[in-house]
Amino acid sequence: MKGFTQIQGNIFVEPCKDCGERPVVEQQKGLFIVRCPKHDSHYQTKPGFVDINDWNLKNKVHTSLGATDTKPSKEAS
Ligand SMILES: [Zn+2]
Repeated sequence: MKGFTQIQGNIFVEPCKDCGERPVVEQQKGLFIVRCPKHDSHYQTKPGFVDINDWNLKNKVHTSLGATDTKPSKEAS
């Protein structure tokens, strides 16, 4: 068995968009991954802090089109 941690029930998380499972947190060498508990091939966040926001964005059925936080801004004065 893998050491998964359940996400607290009072925290909103999207279900896995592929299989509908509630995600869990896996700890690897002090880093945290939000992932599907059933399938290694389903979406996982990058190892680091518990990035539920990223999980939620990637598992929304209706993804926003190309909206990222990295659009170039040339507003330097
Ligand atoms: Zn899944």
